Amino acid sequence: MPRRLAGLLPHEIAEDCGFDRPFRGIQVFKWLSGGALSFQDMTNLPGPERERLTLLHPSLLGTAVDGRFRDEDGTVKLRLRLPDGAAVETVLLTDIEGRKTACISTQVGCPMACAFCKTGTLGFLRNLEAFEIVEQYLHLTRMFGRPSNLVFMGMGEPLLNLPEVRRSVEILSHPEGMGLSLRKITISTCGLPEGIRDLADSGPHVRLAVSLTSAVDEVRSGLMPVNRSQGLSELRDALAYYQAKTGDRITLEAVLIGGVNDRRQDMEAIVEWSRPLKVQVNLIPWNPVPDLPYREPSRRAVEEAVTLLESAGIPVTRRMRRGRGVLGACGQLGETLRAPD
Ligand code: SAH
Repeated sequence: MPRRLAGLLPHEIAEDCGFDRPFRGIQVFKWLSGGALSFQDMTNLPGPERERLTLLHPSLLGTAVDGRFRDEDGTVKLRLRLPDGAAVETVLLTDIEGRKTACISTQVGCPMACAFCKTGTLGFLRNLEAFEIVEQYLHLTRMFGRPSNLVFMGMGEPLLNLPEVRRSVEILSHPEGMGLSLRKITISTCGLPEGIRDLADSGPHVRLAVSLTSAVDEVRSGLMPVNRSQGLSELRDALAYYQAKTGDRITLEAVLIGGVNDRRQDMEAIVEWSRPLKVQVNLIPWNPVPDLPYREPSRRAVEEAVTLLESAGIPVTRRMRRGRGVLGACGQLGETLRAPD
């Protein structure tokens, strides 16, 4: 079976399509990036070539949109059906200035089992391949216009699928294609020290966000099983290493759960723990997930958290509650992993 073209770089497309002239690979890459859906659209290829390639690749993309949900706040969630029948979700967020951010999935399900996250309750089926990652962005672009920002914050743990995430970043940032700047791409991880060091050593140097959640080991271990084997001090060492290599400010994401990690002492622990690092904190009020034993933080707890962190000199951003109406907000992505029989 021919390879899926959306996961290939120009020279690989040239190889796959049997072009003897490399610039044809660039032409096809450009068309794909521009939203072409078949070789017939590619008007700068000779007619007989278009015919030959259509037989080779009757459908240019390997994934299909089979569900589209729009929240009142403008957030859109798509369900994509993958070639093996599995499904993932991908989200488009639009902020008040109209800036669009694609929130992309990297795995079908997730093995990390964070207690507060819907995807974590599903279990893990498999890693996505690069074409399945790139096509999420292509579908969003074709349907809603080109998102200027991309965050690997959908379903799955990107650092457990680093080869395919790397390849997709290379494709999405390629100057002959979508040309997304690395500064506009964020990888969000639950905090795997080995993956963070690998990213520091070998790139790509996109923005890094880490789901800290709590800077108290017992609390974090209770919410995020990953912390039981690799605790907060290993995580901080890896982040210091990353920062020494890249100089970048790191975003710490803290989902705030009422009565669990939204208290004064929780914020003080974050201030203490992050002292050796250059960070900003992104506070995310917990989005309800049916059947999970948590509650949202009070408005007052969120205000107090912001004030405490800011008065310690830490820049704070607050995640807007976007996409809840379509279960498309952080931690609510939970498409069943397999197609119904
Ligand atoms: N695996 C990666 C990316 C996916 S999770 C990671 O862990 O970072 C993306 C973000 O959503 C994480 O910061 C996570 O803490 C947050 N999150 C998960 N469940 C949530 C929920 N129910 N409400 C709010 N944020 C949630």
